[in-house]
Amino acid sequence: MLTYRDGQVNNTSCEVPTESSELSDYNLFSSHSALQDALAREGAAADHEALTALGARLGSAAMFALGDAANRNPPQLRAFDRFGARRDEVEFHPAWHELLRRLIAEGLHTGPWAQPRPGAHVARAAGYMLWAEIENGTQCPATMSYGAVPALAPASAEFAPWLKLLMSREYDACFAPASGKRGVLIGMGMTERQGGSDVRTNTTRAMPVAARGPGREYRLTGHKWFLSAPMCDAFLVLAQADGGLSCFLVPRFLPDGSVNALQLQRLKDKVGNRSNASSEVEFQGAHGLLVAEEGRGIPTILTMGVYTRLDNAVATAGLMRQCVAQAIHHARHRRAFGRRLAEQPLMLNVLADLALECEAAVMLAMRLARAFDGLDDENATLLRRLLTPVAKYWICKRAPTVCAEAMEVLGGNGYVEEGPIARRFRESPLNSIWEGSGNIMCLDVLRALTREPATRAVLGELLAAARGSDPRYDRFLGALLAQLDGAADAEQRARDLTQRIALAVQAALYLVHGPSASCEAFLASRIAVAPPAAFGTLPGDESDFAALTARILAA
Ligand SMILES: Cc1cc2nc3c(=O)[nH]c(=O)nc-3n(C[C@H](O)[C@H](O)[C@H](O)COP(=O)(O)OP(=O)(O)OC[C@H]3O[C@@H](n4cnc5c(N)ncnc54)[C@H](O)[C@@H]3O)c2cc1C
Repeated sequence: MLTYRDGQVNNTSCEVPTESSELSDYNLFSSHSALQDALAREGAAADHEALTALGARLGSAAMFALGDAANRNPPQLRAFDRFGARRDEVEFHPAWHELLRRLIAEGLHTGPWAQPRPGAHVARAAGYMLWAEIENGTQCPATMSYGAVPALAPASAEFAPWLKLLMSREYDACFAPASGKRGVLIGMGMTERQGGSDVRTNTTRAMPVAARGPGREYRLTGHKWFLSAPMCDAFLVLAQADGGLSCFLVPRFLPDGSVNALQLQRLKDKVGNRSNASSEVEFQGAHGLLVAEEGRGIPTILTMGVYTRLDNAVATAGLMRQCVAQAIHHARHRRAFGRRLAEQPLMLNVLADLALECEAAVMLAMRLARAFDGLDDENATLLRRLLTPVAKYWICKRAPTVCAEAMEVLGGNGYVEEGPIARRFRESPLNSIWEGSGNIMCLDVLRALTREPATRAVLGELLAAARGSDPRYDRFLGALLAQLDGAADAEQRARDLTQRIALAVQAALYLVHGPSASCEAFLASRIAVAPPAAFGTLPGDESDFAALTARILAA
């Protein structure tokens, strides 16, 4: 504000109250009723205390600052040293290393494998969802390492040392052979220039050095167009062997301690996910060990992919929650037209609708995580097979719209990089694109339904638990079951079917477990009618809306 005093023009703009404040230094978990309820419902109530402690650690201002610093200072490729010799290293800001150190120390990468117990995957999913509120780039190597364990576990004894190091809670950033390290991370290389969805078109070749077969050494020649987190200690890589497309463990170092022939060409200049490096790489006769039989490359890497897809759903629910929590917090403090934004009826509707979408995402992701705790259970296996692409598709599809609307709640400040939402908005489309883009997930839903007919019965059982509680749901369910009958030839309608399965599961969870205000709002706005294109169109009254927002950020 400019004032004129004593013949001087004074700038007193800093005296104008901004009427909002930072949302940091708060407990991410204990302020999040929707996640607390989901944790208990899905079989990990015993972890409530541990997650409360984690929520306090992650919600500190220091963690928010680390997340920002890692993303403001993106990694740099050092392809050569100053004499022109190849280095093929990526240098990261110290904040990246500190974040990864903490993530691994919390066991959020491979904890459920290192200490298996009932509810382990659900508890980890809750912790991972909280981590996603702080920083997403570090989740890339963590998620890939989580998925690498089940892909390597059934393989030959050659991989046992790798599995042991994957379970470690120590982050070792040294660029050195894995045999001398305190812990390792594993990435994946599937996508080539000519195709990421259709990996059958991969052209990278693998030739056996002597004998062929699992655990044997091959030489790989070719490229990968995307290879994220290239400072991982090894990668699961698809390449064509004589027996067909096969999966190889390709380490950064050879057994003799020399650097393996992975040449990093470039780092991608990405829209978001900027703390993390995503490289283009060439394999110049790189050393690799065959993981399963030749020709079994796709099923082997998909074992990893199922877990990375779970994490896409889980992390996206966390990303949404942070954006919606920031929006609610801002609206509770900022005034316009004589009242706080959160007291304005239309804004309250927007916030409640965002909170509802967020809670439904949390519920679906956590229900999916529970299916990963029943690894040997036949029904859980079928449900996991179906719900993984359903949840990844629907939650990730909703995220950019949710994040954009949350940004708008902050007004002009929302669009400024200094604020908390800009980076998260740029991150928000990514989980839908990688690890199987939207259409690929929907086609996978059709495959799950048609290849194993019992899948339909397992889904039907889950949805039948809520039948008879509300006529709107019953009508929706009847139409969905009829639609499932024609699933085999429904390719062009696969998005519609997938969306309806997601909505039906979310509605069933609300009907069986409540809370009633959220359940009613969900049925009225997403089951009785099509889900809103823009948030803020809920029927209902203001007291219900306040209850909905409190589920995502305690008042
Ligand atoms: C930041 C980032 C990091 C990545 N990191 C890695 C990594 O570490 N390792 C790795 O292997 N890959 C990585 N990827 C690649 C990613 O997994 C692929 O980009 C993705 O799988 C899509 O493949 P594509 O880009 O070749 O697109 P395409 O396969 O060409 O697909 C383009 C579009 O067509 C659609 N489509 C394809 N087939 C069909 C069909 N039959 N019917 C209808 N629609 C179809 C897809 O859904 C998509 O929307 C990364 C990508 C990004 C953006």
